Amino acid sequence: MPVTIPPGTETVLLHNRVAGPRPFPGLESAPEFRLHPTTPEESTEIAREAAIAGVQRIIVAGGDGTLRDVARGIVGTQTAVAILPAGTANDYAASAGIPKEAGQAWELARNGVATRVDVAKVNGDLISINMGGIGFDAEVVRRYHQGAAWQRKLPARLRYHLSIFGTFAKFKGVRARLDLDGEVIEIDRLMLLAFGSARQYGDGMVIAPDARLSDGLLNAVWATELSAGELAGLLPKLTAAGHVGHPKVTMRTFHSLRIETDPPAAFHIEGDLQGHAPIEIKVLPAALNVVAGSNAVL
Ligand SMILES: [Mg+2]
Repeated sequence: MPVTIPPGTETVLLHNRVAGPRPFPGLESAPEFRLHPTTPEESTEIAREAAIAGVQRIIVAGGDGTLRDVARGIVGTQTAVAILPAGTANDYAASAGIPKEAGQAWELARNGVATRVDVAKVNGDLISINMGGIGFDAEVVRRYHQGAAWQRKLPARLRYHLSIFGTFAKFKGVRARLDLDGEVIEIDRLMLLAFGSARQYGDGMVIAPDARLSDGLLNAVWATELSAGELAGLLPKLTAAGHVGHPKVTMRTFHSLRIETDPPAAFHIEGDLQGHAPIEIKVLPAALNVVAGSNAVL
């Protein structure tokens, strides 16, 4: 979809017409020039064109996936992205200190100061702004999207939990070889590995509580050889970062990480399945201009 952004436009508002479980308050009456992408590729293309047109700020009403698609178009430019947390999962907004209250979110989106943050480059041409994962969590995402017709009618959170239970029964881990900044780590049974720049994913699971968005480092958190019972005990604790210090959980920072698995495990970025191992993840320091709130973990 070619877009024509009027010359001199400083701020644009980007949102799907049907995005999210409910419309974000104030969207319909907002005076900003609006753009309505219908596909992830269109979000990226529109963002790229906006940056070329000299737009200074793109206000995105959406969740982590939409934000990532927009970021992909403006990485390395001066154009800033501001966030109205209107998605199914707004985990990046939480790390970026975006207020949940609509009026405060609008105020920050329009007038907040932009700051540069890191993003993760994945397999050369993919970008992750929040977090991705391989193993158990990607398997949960796969089940979530491939559920039976009756499951797809259930509320998102319930479906997500059903997918977790289904995965418990089937997923026993994979052999993995990590190359973390040149250090080789062999793992007999990797259950899951989460990676990225931010603190939380999966709608509130604080998997990397010490992550900072602009320290020039990405975080990896992985769990090995957990029984279904151990994993079941660990997952509910994630919202309060209760997995920290668990003997089978490792937390590291890195600039570059290569993951090979046997068999090739699925991976997701921001909850969207993207392919299978091997994966190469590299930090792009200070690559993205983001309007962050005062509680951001910068
Ligand atoms: Mg970091």
